[in-house]
Amino acid sequence: MQDIKYLTGVGPKKATLLASELGIRSVEDLLRHYPYKYVDRSRFYYLHELTEDMPFIQVKGQILKFEKFGEGKSLRLTAQFTDGKGTLELVWFKGIKFILEKYKTGLDYVVFGKPTAFNGRYSLVHPEIDLVTQLPPAEQMGLQPFYNTTEKMKSGFLNSKTIQKIIFPLIKNLQNGIPESLPAYILKRFALMNLTDSLMNVHFPKNADALNKARQRLKFEELFYIQLSILRQTKWREQNFKGFVFAQIGHYFNAFFSHYLPFELTGAQKRVLREIRTDVGSGKQMNRLLQGDVGSGKTLVALMAMLMAIDNGFQAAIMAPTEILANQHFETIKEMLGDIGVRVALLTGSTRPKVREEIHGKLRSGELNILIGTHALIEDTVQFANLGLVVIDEQHRFGVEQRSKLWKKNHQPPHILVMTATPIPRTLAMTLYGDLSVSVIDELPPGRKPIQTYHYYQNKRQGLNQFIAKQVNAGRQVYIVYPLIQESEKMDLQDLENGYNYISETFPDYKICKVHGKLKNAEKEFQMQKFVSGEAQIMMATTVIEVGVNVPNASVMVIENAERFGLSQLHQLRGRVGRGADQSFCILLTGFKLASETRKRMEIMVRTNDGFEISEADLQLRGPGDLEGTIQSGLPFELKIANLAQDGKMLEIARGAAMEILEDDPSLEKTENRVLLTQLRKLKTNTLNWGVIS
Ligand code: ADP
Ligand code: MG
Repeated sequence: MQDIKYLTGVGPKKATLLASELGIRSVEDLLRHYPYKYVDRSRFYYLHELTEDMPFIQVKGQILKFEKFGEGKSLRLTAQFTDGKGTLELVWFKGIKFILEKYKTGLDYVVFGKPTAFNGRYSLVHPEIDLVTQLPPAEQMGLQPFYNTTEKMKSGFLNSKTIQKIIFPLIKNLQNGIPESLPAYILKRFALMNLTDSLMNVHFPKNADALNKARQRLKFEELFYIQLSILRQTKWREQNFKGFVFAQIGHYFNAFFSHYLPFELTGAQKRVLREIRTDVGSGKQMNRLLQGDVGSGKTLVALMAMLMAIDNGFQAAIMAPTEILANQHFETIKEMLGDIGVRVALLTGSTRPKVREEIHGKLRSGELNILIGTHALIEDTVQFANLGLVVIDEQHRFGVEQRSKLWKKNHQPPHILVMTATPIPRTLAMTLYGDLSVSVIDELPPGRKPIQTYHYYQNKRQGLNQFIAKQVNAGRQVYIVYPLIQESEKMDLQDLENGYNYISETFPDYKICKVHGKLKNAEKEFQMQKFVSGEAQIMMATTVIEVGVNVPNASVMVIENAERFGLSQLHQLRGRVGRGADQSFCILLTGFKLASETRKRMEIMVRTNDGFEISEADLQLRGPGDLEGTIQSGLPFELKIANLAQDGKMLEIARGAAMEILEDDPSLEKTENRVLLTQLRKLKTNTLNWGVIS
C-alpha cells in the first residue's frame, strides 16, 4: 500500500491530518472520499436573482469600494460589489492586508461563495475571487467538487480545494483501471457504471449525466455491501442459536384476556400479538421491533407477551430507560394483573441492597415471574432461573453493549421485543437492523382526540397564561418543558429556575413541581409522584420526562424554546398529553428569529400528529446522522454517499440482490463471488457486534 504522504501535495503533516480527522490512510481511502456536493461553475448568477437558501453562486462584476470596521480581533473588511443589477457585500475577517493589496476597485472579477442574507442584504464571507480574464472558459469550469473537511484540517491548510488538488493526479492515473469491486454479473444486471469510470466521474464529472451514473453505482455498492454483511450475520445467528419455543397459550394469558383486561384490544394490538405469538412459537429466536406512536398501548402488548412466556414456564423481564418509567411500568402492570397470581418485582438503581438480595434469590429460584427495571437488571449479578423474554422499552436509550449482555442471561438467548415510539423510517430500520422484524401499532385506542398544536412567539405569554389557568381550573394538568442541552447545562437550568419563579408568581394558588436530570433519584420520584397523583397542577421539567410518562389527566404541553428541540423530540414530548379523553394541546413557544429549517419543524408539528410522517420529515431535514433518538452513536455504518432519506428504493433493490446471492451461494465460494468476500473484509464497521445482538 502506497503511503499517502509521498503523494503530490500531501506530505507528512497533511497525511497525519487526513488519517486522524477522516481516517484516510491509503490511496483507496482518498478515492473513496467522495465530494459531498458539486457546484455548477458554468453558470453565472445576477445579483437580483438571489434568494434565501441559495447554494453556492458566482457573479461577474466590480468592487465599488472597501471599508474596514472594528479593531484588533474584531477587525473586519467589507467590499461593495455590483454587477449593475444589484449589490452584494464581500466580507473578510482574516488576511485583510493581503486582500487590499491583491484586489482593486474597477476591475472585472468573478466572485464565488455561499451567500448569506441578512435584512434583505446579501453577503459573501471569504469569497473566492478571480479576474474574469483569468477564468478558464465556461465549458472547462464544469462541476466543481466539494469535499468534507474539518476545522482542524482547514487550519492545517487542507480545505476542499487542496483535497481536490491531491485527488486530481490520482484520478489521471486511474486511466489504466483499478480492480472492480462488484461482481461482473451485478454490474451487468443493474446496468451500473464500472468502478474506474465511477471514481473518475465522481471526483471530476465529465458532465451531469456521467456524474449521476457514477453516484448511482457508488451508492448501490455501498448499500449492497451493508445489506450483504447484515444478512450474512443473520444467517450465521440463525444457524448458531435456537429460540425457546412457547408452544401454548395457557392459563395466565387466557385468564388475563377474559377477566382482567380493562378494555377491548385495538385491532393493531391484536395483530401485533399474533405476530409475536408466531415468532415465539417458531423455534427461532425472536428479534422484533415494535413501533407504536406514543399512547398507542405498547405496554399492554408487552405484558401479554410476557404472559405467554410465563405460561410456558419461562420468566420475563422488561427494561425501561429511566427509574421513573420503570416505576410506572411496575405500578401499571401490578394493577393490571390484580390477583391473577403472577409475581412481579421492581429492580432499579435505588433498590436497597437487602431487597435486591431478596430479588436476586427469587429470580434464581424461579419464584419471580416478571422483573421490571432499569438497566440495573442486566447487571451480571442478576441471574434468572429461566429467562425467556426480554422487553426493552424505548429502545434508543440502550447501547449495543448493554443489549449483548441480555443474550447471556440464559443458555440460549431469550426472545427480544424492542419497543419504540420513535418511528424509525423503513429505510433506516433496514440499514440499522436489516434482520429485525418490525411490528407496527398504527391505531390509537378509541376515543382519543388528536392533540391540537400551536406555534406561538414569546410575546403570547399573557394569552398562554390565561389558557393554562382555564385548563387547570377545568381540572386538567399542565407540563412546561425547558430544553436541557449538554453544552449549556448551567444556563438551561437557570432557564428552568427562572421559569419556575415566573410561573410560581403568576399562579400563586397552584401547586407546581419541578423535575430535572440533576435531581437525586428519590427527589425526582417525589416530584413526579406529586404530578402523577394530581396533587400538583403544573409540572415544570427538562426533557427527562420525554419518554413514556403516562398521566392521562395532563392536557397541555408547553414547550419553551421549542426551536432548540429536534422534531422527534418535540413529538415525544407532545406525546405526554393526549392520553385521556379530554382535548389536549401542545404549545410550541419560540423566539421571533427562526432559521427556515426551524420554521419548517414548527410547521410540521402544527400540521400533523403522525409520528411516521414526522420521522420521515426529520430524516429529510436533518439527515440520518443526526436523527436523534434513534440510536445515540448514529448509524452502525458510515454512509459515504448513499442517503437514507433519498435512496430508499435503491436500498431495497440492493437488499434484494444481496439476499439472492446468499440464497444461491451462502458462503460466497463461487469464483464470481470471490470479490464479495474481499470487499466485506474491507467494510470498516462494527457489523459483527451489531449483527449478533440487535
Ligand atoms: P405507549 O404505547 O406510549 O407506551 P401506553 O402503553 O402507556 O402507551 O398506553 C397509553 C394509555 O392507553 C394507557 O393509559 C393504557 O392503559 C391505554 N390503553 C392501552 N391500550 C388500550 C386499549 N386497547 N383501549 C383503551 N385504552 C388503552
Ligand atoms: Mg410506553
